[in-house]
Amino acid sequence: MSRVYTLDDLPMADFAVIGDPVGHSKSPAMHHAAYDALGLPYRYVAVHVAPGRVAEALERMREMGYRGVNVTVPHKAEALAWASQPDSLASRIGAANTLDLRTGRAWNTDAPGFMDTLADLGLRSPYRAVVLGAGGSARALVAALSDEAGVEVAVWNRTRDRAERMVQELAPGAQVLDRPDLTDADLVVNATSTGLSGIELDLDFAATPPDALAYDLAYGSEPTAFERQAASVGRRHTDGRGLLAAQGARAFEHWLGIPAPKAVMLRAIT
Ligand code: NDP
Repeated sequence: MSRVYTLDDLPMADFAVIGDPVGHSKSPAMHHAAYDALGLPYRYVAVHVAPGRVAEALERMREMGYRGVNVTVPHKAEALAWASQPDSLASRIGAANTLDLRTGRAWNTDAPGFMDTLADLGLRSPYRAVVLGAGGSARALVAALSDEAGVEVAVWNRTRDRAERMVQELAPGAQVLDRPDLTDADLVVNATSTGLSGIELDLDFAATPPDALAYDLAYGSEPTAFERQAASVGRRHTDGRGLLAAQGARAFEHWLGIPAPKAVMLRAIT
């Protein structure tokens, strides 16, 4: 685990991840692995920032010469509000996770990063996707999936109203489910925060096609409860490390304009 800095002891560096909490972040190790592989001299640090202090933190970092910042929970909306040049996808989702401090540009790399991982896993449209959850990360995935030709999107959330609002704002063609019905789902994504809690959602993976993919955004040292449910009926499954690497690789490329060593970045967090 890398050292966590605060606004009171901000070090000289080039890039950072900010969050609350941020101690668990694997981003410093992942980006340093990329710099080492390419012989780049940059420093990437983790900085704890309290809610309400994001703009102040970003201005301080900009004055100190930081080039770019990744943003994690719960600061993605505040980061978007800071940006003077947000890209259209980040604005639509209402969240930015990658900032260029020199230009004020901001992106959401979770959404395209997620689609990169589906391509890597061999999922090709047309397919039916069921997304569980309607929080910050679900918004990015639902926007990305609904923009993809040939993908039918259905959403279930514990609080149905929230799913309805999300679909209305981001994906008017998507269906809102009353229960987490997985019938004919080629892709099932767990974007709820149950991932590492051990809570089992009421899911019938046997209703999915035999080659369906169960994708949990959470990751830990063991498969999640969701992954175990899918595995118990022989469905293939993956956790959120691929997404972490893919969104990080896209951030790296926005900042540095050179291809990211994706395999190295993924290896650094697995
Ligand atoms: P949010 O807090 O924004 O949303 C939480 C979601 O989980 C809501 O839809 C909420 O439903 C639902 N939920 C919470 N508890 C339960 C429960 N007991 N039963 C059913 N649903 C529940 O979280 P995020 O979107 O930021 O994160 C979601 C997950 O994705 C986390 O596990 C996070 O670690 C992971 N993640 C992974 C990333 C990666 O790079 N791999 C990136 C971002 C997130 P309700 O609306 O009813 O409260």
